[in-house]
Amino acid sequence: MKKYIMAMDQGTTSSRCILFDKKGNIASVSQKEFKQIYPKPGWVEHDPMEIWSSQVGVAIEAVAKLGVSFEDIVGIGITNQRETTIVWNKKTGEPVYNAIVWQCRRTADIVDKIPEDMKKKIRKKTGLIPDAYFSATKIKWILDNVKGAKEAAKKGDLLFGTVDTWIMWMLSGHKIHATDYTNASRTMLFDIKKLKWDQEILDYFGIPASMMPEVHPSGYNYGMTDIAMTRGEIPICGACGDQQAALFGLCGFHKGDVKNTYGTGCFLLMNTGEKAISSKNGLLTTIAAGLDGEKTQYVLEGSIFIGGAVVQWLRDELEFVKKSPQSEKMAKSVSDTAGAYLVPAFTGLGAPYWDQGARGTMVGLTRGFNKKQFVRAALESIAYQTHDVIRAMEADAKYSLNSLKVDGGASRNEFLMQFQADLVDTVIERPKLVENTALGAAYIAGLTVGFWKDKESLASQKKDWKIFKPEMEKQEREEKIKGWNIAVETAKFWSSRQ
Ligand code: ADP
Repeated sequence: MKKYIMAMDQGTTSSRCILFDKKGNIASVSQKEFKQIYPKPGWVEHDPMEIWSSQVGVAIEAVAKLGVSFEDIVGIGITNQRETTIVWNKKTGEPVYNAIVWQCRRTADIVDKIPEDMKKKIRKKTGLIPDAYFSATKIKWILDNVKGAKEAAKKGDLLFGTVDTWIMWMLSGHKIHATDYTNASRTMLFDIKKLKWDQEILDYFGIPASMMPEVHPSGYNYGMTDIAMTRGEIPICGACGDQQAALFGLCGFHKGDVKNTYGTGCFLLMNTGEKAISSKNGLLTTIAAGLDGEKTQYVLEGSIFIGGAVVQWLRDELEFVKKSPQSEKMAKSVSDTAGAYLVPAFTGLGAPYWDQGARGTMVGLTRGFNKKQFVRAALESIAYQTHDVIRAMEADAKYSLNSLKVDGGASRNEFLMQFQADLVDTVIERPKLVENTALGAAYIAGLTVGFWKDKESLASQKKDWKIFKPEMEKQEREEKIKGWNIAVETAKFWSSRQ
């Protein structure tokens, strides 16, 4: 009988379940979108019960589609949208409020009020730059605003969890209250070096330690599913935040491995080995996915707000392309941008520039500048921003990257990949499979239960990866980057005069 690893991929807009076979191929997949709740401008919520029902629903469907049963599943790995916060009653299992989603900005003022010395401590202990994005202020908001929540929490009746924790709690029939290091490291409450919840930060936010889940490595025997849920006990043996799972799925196991996910935004992670490096360039330090018994590895993380979204803009607002993939042909049909640059700072600039007031800027336009060159400049802007984050990572880590591993929708664009390889002057490795987040969760779970022997054996599954080699001359590269830097300065200058 064939056996499978089940990856539960609980994302921001949909719940997905993928069954992987021993070769790492997708045997079955099922996906369901769920509702986004926007109670006020800037607020984003999900219904925890809908997260759960959609997740368990797609799991049942993925198994049924393949015509197998839950007995053929050797283990479950969960990967999830990070930072999203759920608080529920320990006795009833009922959430006391909706899940507050990572994108939700309702707690920005709580962050603004954190005194400078506390901010410094948070930065040092958690590796994060204090922000409403992380779970801590979201928990505080629930305790402060839901009637009776603070008292119930003090009595030890409430539990907190990120989405992995919630899924495990439900899957196990309310027996497991746990999370993994990658998720814990995004709460802004976890000491990433001591590997434990930090009492001083918990006290500052007024969060009782009794609410916090146990924390384990990503690959760990968390416990068994409830029989009623899966008609038999199945080991839950993996939990991991989505970005770290993607790095693992791309086999980014070694110091110097960098991955970039080219989605709406871009998420870059650099494996820095056993050293937690604190950034001087506005990058975050978090924990990498790891297996039980292994030494903890860390990553530097940087994100780009506008990645593939610039192509959506070309499509929906400017109507330069009908479909995103057309951008590739248009960009390739011209030899360059005729010296023009687009800085897509539509919502400000993130790492490593950090300028909230910056806005989209175009420089270097000449009389002959055309639509195709515009499209090319837009795609190039994704590569330039990625280049800058990578150089910031290298400066912080004091070593160069080994290679750039890529995934996400816009990584399908071959023009972009070649230009990226040229600009960073490194080899790009792109897998055939784009579901790396789920694959990472499957690898973590599968290695933990012995479905796969070791990490090295997973490398043999990389044979159909496409490689992009740098071809650009040094001088040309340097000139282009020089022009880009001036374009960024121009965007910042605009911001400084507003
Ligand atoms: P997300 O997970 O953030 O929704 P995806 O990984 O699905 O994103 O990628 C979608 C993004 O990639 C969109 O912004 C889209 O414009 C862009 N995209 C998809 N295909 C291409 C392509 N061939 N060339 C350029 N951009 C693309």
